[in-house]
Amino acid sequence: MDALGSLYREIVLEHAKEPQNFRTLPHADASSEGYNPMCGDRVCVQIQLSPDRTRLEEIGFTGEGCSICMASSSMMTEEVQKKSIADIDSMIQNFRDVLTGTKDPSVLDGDIASLAGVRNFAVRVKCASLPWTTLKEALECALLSNKQETPS
Ligand code: ZN
Repeated sequence: MDALGSLYREIVLEHAKEPQNFRTLPHADASSEGYNPMCGDRVCVQIQLSPDRTRLEEIGFTGEGCSICMASSSMMTEEVQKKSIADIDSMIQNFRDVLTGTKDPSVLDGDIASLAGVRNFAVRVKCASLPWTTLKEALECALLSNKQETPS
């Protein structure tokens, strides 16, 4: 298997073929759209927070893109479901740091660890990081709107 072949590990292809949480949420608190012009990947991430706004209750994504982008989106939605916002923030940071080579891939848990090989392919880094960047934007948007609604 050549280097590029090993990038598309079985688990990546599985997620790309049957993405998890590929849906729109009926009661989303926020949504964000990301676009990667280098590859043409387009992802829309929708999130619903817990009533106290400290946890992610539901997440869904739609869009279209290459296998790496779809797999990364699918894995991400599985990993962040029901997690606290603080945990998700550090997961986003870890994932980005692994892809840019500043952290060891061992900081990643679960299926997303299989995407660590992407860091050896500069052109693919944006494909893998797009859903995570988009999730971060959606979280910021949801928390900002919460501030405005909370009476002081
Ligand atoms: Zn792509």
